[in-house]
Amino acid sequence: MTDEEDLRDEIPSYAYISLARRGMEKISLDQCFLKNCDNNDPKLLEPFKKEEFDNDKEQIRKIFIRCKKCEGIFILKLKTLKQIAKFTKESDEEPLSMGLVYALDEDENNLGHIGYF
Ligand SMILES: [Zn+2]
Repeated sequence: MTDEEDLRDEIPSYAYISLARRGMEKISLDQCFLKNCDNNDPKLLEPFKKEEFDNDKEQIRKIFIRCKKCEGIFILKLKTLKQIAKFTKESDEEPLSMGLVYALDEDENNLGHIGYF
């Protein structure tokens, strides 16, 4: 059995969205990223599976989450870049941690780049 609490620990609490010259906005990852769902209650979000991939450039973790409000499943894809020197970040922003968060739907269609963690 998968330990839900362990999976929860794998999910960063927040992601940061770059607002061009207005700095960074912090958003909670305790929310459902599926369309037409406004669930932001962690109690209604149930992480149930993890997949992990690793190569010499990046580490990818996918956390599968069931939303008990819309009954949908979405995936948080956490990508950590290993070769920071080769990562070209946008010119004049503050240094970011080299983690990227994406949301995917159940069929792994990309719902969008959420931000950085
Ligand atoms: Zn939902």
